[in-house]
Amino acid sequence: MSALLEVEGLEVFYGASQALFGVDLQVREGTAVALMGRNGMGKTTTIHAVCRMLPIRRGAVRFRARDITALPSFRAARLGIGLVPEGRRCFPNLTVTENLIAAARPGLWTLARVHDLFPRLQERAGQHAATLSGGEQQMLAIGRALMTNPRLLILDEATEGLAPVIRREIWAAVGRLKAEGLSILLVDKTLSEILPLADDCVVLERGRTVWTGPAAGLTDEVAGRYLGL
Ligand code: ATP
Repeated sequence: MSALLEVEGLEVFYGASQALFGVDLQVREGTAVALMGRNGMGKTTTIHAVCRMLPIRRGAVRFRARDITALPSFRAARLGIGLVPEGRRCFPNLTVTENLIAAARPGLWTLARVHDLFPRLQERAGQHAATLSGGEQQMLAIGRALMTNPRLLILDEATEGLAPVIRREIWAAVGRLKAEGLSILLVDKTLSEILPLADDCVVLERGRTVWTGPAAGLTDEVAGRYLGL
């Protein structure tokens, strides 16, 4: 199976300070990959570079067999990279439906399908995004990304700070997306919640890929060494 996303030898700087020193990862079509690592190891930086929100000093990003290393972010989005950013940024003064429609691009994902995935977004349709609970805002952020009809959905810390019951609801929805064949790149720290969803894992340490393999092969030894578990 060919890779939908291929990241090779990625090096990224913030000014003079190097954050990534050689990140490699692949997401095969229809699979979910968990990108893991302790705080500050480069997960968000990797994702932002893939979404073309940060310049890439060395290395390459290929998406759908195209080199997108130097592409601006709006073009990466148009090619089908859908980001659910950390912190669930939605337009606070727009209603739930306005937020969803603002992101819409033609495809399988419509308002009706997003409502089917997250019925709460239908119940809250006319409410301003600022007045939603954290969990509802996360649902809205995922719904917005889906409305762009992405080929790859990237979730950065999708359940951070949410109550266990809401986390389960979010992961169940992500599981459903995966079952429907969507390719997914997940960043999260709660191993027990993401491992059941992930086909493959990529572990970062100090801006480098230090372990890649099937989720089932992530042993306690690897988790202990790189994730501090
Ligand atoms: P976390 O789990 O805490 O979000 P992370 O694995 O996503 O961590 P990054 O946020 O990608 O890690 O950070 C990687 C490195 O880059 C860290 O050393 C961090 O301090 C640095 N860094 C991140 N953002 C910036 C920035 N805007 N300016 C300068 N350095 C940054």
